[in-house]
Amino acid sequence: MSNRGECLLCHSKFEKSSITNHLKSCSKKKLAESSKKREKTYHIVVEGKYYPQYWMHIEVPIDARLSLLDQFLRKTWLECCSHMSEFVIDGEPFDDMSQPLKNCIEPKETFEYIYDFGTSTELKLKVIEEQEGEKTSRESIKLLARNEPPDISCDFCNDFAEYVCVECTLDGGCLCKKCVNNHECDEEMLLPIVNSPRVGECDYRG
Ligand SMILES: [Zn+2]
Ligand SMILES: [Zn+2]
Ligand SMILES: [Zn+2]
Ligand SMILES: [Zn+2]
Repeated sequence: MSNRGECLLCHSKFEKSSITNHLKSCSKKKLAESSKKREKTYHIVVEGKYYPQYWMHIEVPIDARLSLLDQFLRKTWLECCSHMSEFVIDGEPFDDMSQPLKNCIEPKETFEYIYDFGTSTELKLKVIEEQEGEKTSRESIKLLARNEPPDISCDFCNDFAEYVCVECTLDGGCLCKKCVNNHECDEEMLLPIVNSPRVGECDYRG
């Protein structure tokens, strides 16, 4: 199965397996063209722990606090009803969100993130390397690349699915525009299919 995504720096498309190397050279090229000040950043790849077909590459200043990364992950992929969240670093829950990244995570290190302790969405993150990036006036996280929405087909007719029934789950509850009208479960159980590892969970609508 193809798992492509787009480099948002040059808008070319790549397979998940080759985009990391592309981004290393593409971001160097972009930076060379820029006259802005530089700062040290981490190139981080984030993916769904159980749904690795959802992924993104981001560039984060190493001085940025964990809370900034937390906010970014919520905004881009996860936020439904302000659930609790937590990073897991070196296998231990890490609660101090005020710490800058450089104090808790090293290049090449893998860590995890959990959003919502009830209907959890778990993410796996890896620092690819430390690099130089454009310095922004305010601390901010740059989205470098992300996966294209995977094709999910209706479990009843094979058409393109647009909804998922939370009751029936992604495993048998994906519905197209037509079949959604014949579905037996309560209408409140229906969520739109969105491009995120939180698809079909709690009340996440993208
Ligand atoms: Zn590129
Ligand atoms: Zn929720
Ligand atoms: Zn259908
Ligand atoms: Zn259902």
